[in-house]
Amino acid sequence: VKFVYDFTEGNKDLKDLLGGKGANLAEMTNLGLPVPPGFTITTEACKVYLDSGEEPAALRDEVSAHLAALEERMGKKLGQADNPLLVSVRSGAKFSMPGMMDTVLNIGLSDKSVQGLAQQAGDDRFAWDSYRRLIQMFGKTVLGVDGDLFEDALEKAKETKKVTDDTQLDAADLKKLVTRYKKIVKTEAGRDFPQDPREQMDLAIKAVFDSWNGDRAKLYRRQERIPHDLGTAVNVCSMVFGNLGPDSGTGVAFTRDPASGHQGVYGDYLQNAQGEDVVAGIRNTVPLAELERIDKKSYDQLMQIMETLENHYKDLCDIEFTIERGRLWMLQTRVGKRTAGAAFRIATQLVDQGLIDEAEALQRVTGAQLAQLMFPRFDEGAKVEQVGRGIAASPGAAVGKAVFDSYTAVKWSRSGEKVILVRRETNPDDLDGMIAAEGILTSRGGKTSHAAVVARGMGKTCVCGAEELEVDTKRRRMTVPGGHVVEEGDVISIDGSSGKVYLGEVPVVPSPVVEYFEGRMHAGADDADELVEAVHRIMAFADRKRRLRVRANADNAEDALRARRFGAQGIGLCRTEHMFLGDRRELVERLILADTEVEREDSLKELLPLQKRDFVELFEAMDGLPVTIRLLDPPLHEFLPDITELSVRVALAESRQEPHENELRLLQAVHRLHEQNPMLGLRGVRLGLVIPGLFTMQVRAIAEAAAERKAAKGDPRAEIMIPLVGTVQELEIVREEADRVVAEVEEATGTQLKLAIGTMIELPRAALTAGQIAEAAEFFSFGTNDLTQTVWGFSRDDVEASFFTAYLEKGIFGVSPFETIDKDGVGKLVRDAAKAGRETRPDLKLGVCGEHGGDPESVHFFHEVGLDYVSCSPFRIPVARLEAGRAAS
Ligand code: PEP
Ligand code: MG
Repeated sequence: VKFVYDFTEGNKDLKDLLGGKGANLAEMTNLGLPVPPGFTITTEACKVYLDSGEEPAALRDEVSAHLAALEERMGKKLGQADNPLLVSVRSGAKFSMPGMMDTVLNIGLSDKSVQGLAQQAGDDRFAWDSYRRLIQMFGKTVLGVDGDLFEDALEKAKETKKVTDDTQLDAADLKKLVTRYKKIVKTEAGRDFPQDPREQMDLAIKAVFDSWNGDRAKLYRRQERIPHDLGTAVNVCSMVFGNLGPDSGTGVAFTRDPASGHQGVYGDYLQNAQGEDVVAGIRNTVPLAELERIDKKSYDQLMQIMETLENHYKDLCDIEFTIERGRLWMLQTRVGKRTAGAAFRIATQLVDQGLIDEAEALQRVTGAQLAQLMFPRFDEGAKVEQVGRGIAASPGAAVGKAVFDSYTAVKWSRSGEKVILVRRETNPDDLDGMIAAEGILTSRGGKTSHAAVVARGMGKTCVCGAEELEVDTKRRRMTVPGGHVVEEGDVISIDGSSGKVYLGEVPVVPSPVVEYFEGRMHAGADDADELVEAVHRIMAFADRKRRLRVRANADNAEDALRARRFGAQGIGLCRTEHMFLGDRRELVERLILADTEVEREDSLKELLPLQKRDFVELFEAMDGLPVTIRLLDPPLHEFLPDITELSVRVALAESRQEPHENELRLLQAVHRLHEQNPMLGLRGVRLGLVIPGLFTMQVRAIAEAAAERKAAKGDPRAEIMIPLVGTVQELEIVREEADRVVAEVEEATGTQLKLAIGTMIELPRAALTAGQIAEAAEFFSFGTNDLTQTVWGFSRDDVEASFFTAYLEKGIFGVSPFETIDKDGVGKLVRDAAKAGRETRPDLKLGVCGEHGGDPESVHFFHEVGLDYVSCSPFRIPVARLEAGRAAS
């Protein structure tokens, strides 16, 4: 195998091997763009190193050969005393992990070559500053020295000289600082800073490999669901300098606005600076458009390159570039991250430009982005106290208590508080605070600062660079213009779509996208409508493509109507037990606890008309579409009085010698029915088989409701679903009775009802005997909630609060199996049961109604295993429609 690729040897499709950065540097090189020469060490080499603790044997020689070629091309040798070649050593994984891994710049500088650099550049200060940056970065990332020690030394140097800015230190000051830095290295790392340039390079490469498993990187991967075994590539690239004076600089650019999708000139530029200065948001940048004034030639060239890149990648690209003494160099490009709204707009814009087709447009958006667009926004009519405005870095409306450090953000959010993390700027150490916060507010940095990039990636609201806010993290407060002080714990509101910052809690209103789905908004001219238009078109693409139908889990007419507006093609699950919560709970309680037949019949008689009315309303709301009604499935503990509470009541009454006969009788009954494991107890079909008349009443209510709708010239399409079946015998008994009742109602009303009867598949045994069960079922609906619970042996009500956090942290699974279907275990049962069921009954209808029905990744799986529909809560229907379309294209 080959472990090293020159930039001229790779291309953009080799991301697995060369990482995103390496693959794109190669692509740009081959497009003839000005990329500083270099080479990439593959992720394969990293994996060997991470697995065995040693670099592959061949790596050293390969690196030597590529370095020699690079030196030949550049006409100078790495670290050469009189004219040194300097290189950067940068991480670059398949998926972008901004700032999570290590980078070392200026490799090749030493006590000797710093002189050579000074001479070549004609600039002593620059050379010593570069050397000091190398020792600082190398010391921190490669040798593990506490970075604050270097920062403190730098601060001290400035204090001694009574200056405030790094640039005010001259060559002599920096030379002294280098000596100080070398001492720090010696003391802290127990070794000298290496003077051999090749040793510097080799150690840096190893450090980049190691940084793959750094805490920050691991946390980020877990959050972003990036697999842990990919490894990172390492890019060794000849240095170009943006800090060689006012005719030099560095910047970041987007080919379109990553927040709105609009075409134009977007980016930030920083004169006389190195690349890290921009990304870190340390100094404030100028808008890219200013570059036209500063250096027209480079600006024009950059604009042309941006057009080339967009047409080549057929997508929004983001770019890092450096100008060294008037010469433009491309340091990086990639298909850029964007906000959810921009993703929809850009996808439709590119279709209109003829660059991509509808199927490709669907790949450019995700259900998660659509879900994000359905979040509420701030009420524009609300009275607000605006105290600042920063850059709209990542959209959304966030309200919470201001906190000024990551630790507090995590601590408070764990105790249920909503917090806004306020920082001067963020760095990778703030990651867990950012995850915990509702939103992020910084006073420095542009659209490409760490806070902005990471927040956008997470879909978190972020306002950055709000310069009027004086953030004092040490004293945990910020001062707003006019002098008002926001202390830790004060509520603030931030709007990531406008960049505005408000004191107090601003009320929020529904999103325009929801308004659109609700039918309350249509295409128009202002900004929100442009987004609605894009969503409308993408949804149409998805609906044309998808094979899966999408139904709703809805228990009442109101939800059903909303679901229908959102595009539901029926109801996949009506949980009848939900119809008995609230006022009617007592009726069910009485039914379950009834001692005598008379008592039972009485409560059933009372329930029948209530149920029938529910169903009539539901059929009316869903007229012409299938409505799957599940017979009662209450885990008993949800319906019976709490045993402890009741015991106390009885004991109290006893001690006060008050009458308590009824309570005592109830307590005895509850004791009789009390279960240690109600989820595995008397519920679902079991309850129907044990309590005579219960299912019969429900089937009668369904049949009579359907007959009533027919009589009213409606088109009811009822399907009766039996829950928690484990064996076909259970189903057969219920079915026989149901058929009898339906026939009775048909006879009595003189209507043909054609009610389908099917079952849930939510127990492992049902899945394993699906072939037999299909004999008695016209449809299956996979109840993946209970199926996950029983396949894993995880209590669905308890585990997420108890040990799942530990499991997620240990990487046992990347996401809860209750959220995304476990393909290998639960999913295998679904796949096999679907197949076996269809073997018995080729026209068996197959659906899923567990929570997974609205989860993007799971929807793709259900498409793939050939289900007919997914059913999910009304709000997730658009997401399911979109993902079903994406799965099919
Ligand atoms: C299921 O178990 O997946 C299901 C849909 O039923 P419930 O959540 O009501 O148990
Ligand atoms: Mg269930």
